[in-house]
Amino acid sequence: MFSSDIGIDLGTSSVLIYIKGQGIVLKEPSVVAIDRYTNEVIAVGEKARQMIGKTPANINVIRPLREGVISDYNVTEIMLKYFIKKVLGKSSRRPRIAVCVPSEITEVEKKAVKDATKDAGAREVFVIEEPIAAAIGSGIDITRACGSMIVDIGGGTTDIAVISLGGAVVKSSLKIAGDNFDESIIKYIKNKYNILIGEKSAEDLKVNIGTVYKRSAPLNMDIRGKNLVTGLPNTINITSEELYEALKIPTNVIIDRIRKVLEQTPPELASDIYERGIVMTGGGALIYGLDKVIKEATGINTVLAEDSLSCVVLGTGKYIEYNKKFEKDKNVFFQIISKLFKWR
Ligand code: ADP
Ligand code: MG
Repeated sequence: MFSSDIGIDLGTSSVLIYIKGQGIVLKEPSVVAIDRYTNEVIAVGEKARQMIGKTPANINVIRPLREGVISDYNVTEIMLKYFIKKVLGKSSRRPRIAVCVPSEITEVEKKAVKDATKDAGAREVFVIEEPIAAAIGSGIDITRACGSMIVDIGGGTTDIAVISLGGAVVKSSLKIAGDNFDESIIKYIKNKYNILIGEKSAEDLKVNIGTVYKRSAPLNMDIRGKNLVTGLPNTINITSEELYEALKIPTNVIIDRIRKVLEQTPPELASDIYERGIVMTGGGALIYGLDKVIKEATGINTVLAEDSLSCVVLGTGKYIEYNKKFEKDKNVFFQIISKLFKWR
C-alpha cells in the first residue's frame, strides 16, 4: 500500500514518477509506438524507444514532447495515463498528483495534462513548471527572499530561471538542449567524414566521450555509421577533441542565454547569485565540462546538482509537501502558489 502523494516529471526525454515513501518508482523514455493504420498503441516507454530507427512502415514511433511542446496531444495523454496506471496498479486510493511540464507548453496543453492525470485516477492535480520543481529538487528553499539561478538542461529545452520568494523573477527557455548536442554530432561527422550515424550512436558518443571543455587526456571511441558515398556500413574512430568542436555552437547558445538572464536580473538578486553560484539540473547538464565553461564565461561558480536527472521529479514530489506544510496557513501558501502560477 503506498502513500497517496505522487510527483511526475513529464520531460521531453523521459518520464519519472516519485511516490512519497517509496522514492522514484518509474523512469521511462517519453516514447510511444503506434500502428499507423489502426492507431493501436503497440508499445510505451523503453520498449517503444528500442524501436526507434528499426520499425517497419506500419509502425510510427513518436516522441510526443520532443521540442518542449506537446506536438501530439493524444499520444501524450495515452503515455501519461499508461505510466500512471502502471504505478498505481490496482490500488483503490486516489492519489494527489503534481505534474511538472516543460515551461513552453500552452495553457490549453496544461489543461490537457491536468485532465489526463485526473482521468488516470488522481484525486487532485497540480501542474507546476520545470525550473521551480528543479529548484526545489536541488535543495533550494524557494520561499526565501534570496536569489538563486537554476539552469535545467533537458533533452528538448533548457530552462534558465532566477528564483526568489517562490517565483521566477527572470526566466528564459530555449529549444537548445541535450538533443541538439546529438544533432550537432551527427552533422559534424557527416560533414567531416561523409558518414551518417544514428541518433543513438550520437548520444552514445556524447555520453561517453563528449566534452564542452578541453579534456587534459583526450578520449576516443569507435562508432558505426553508413558511408554516404558507398552506401555501405563503416566504423570510424571519433575523438573527444572532435566532439568539442562539434558541440561549440549549442554550448555557446546556452551560455549566451545565461548571460542575458543575468543582465536582466535585479542587482540585489544578482549579487545573491554571485555569492551562491549557479545550479545546473537535468540530463543535458551532465555533459563533461559544462560547469567549467559556464564558470569561465560568467565568473560565477557553477555546480551540477546532486542526481541531476532526478531533481525535477523529486522537486515535484516535494511540492506536495510544501503544499501540506502551508495547509494550516493558507494565506502564505496561496501567496507562494499564486507567484508560481503567475510565472509564465
Ligand atoms: P527531459 O527533462 O527533457 O526529459 P532529461 O533531464 O532526462 O530531459 O535529459 C535528457 C538529456 O540528457 C538527453 O539529451 C540525454 O542524451 C542527456 N544525457 C543523459 N545523460 C547524459 C550524460 N551522462 N552526459 C551527457 N548527456 C546526458
Ligand atoms: Mg526535465
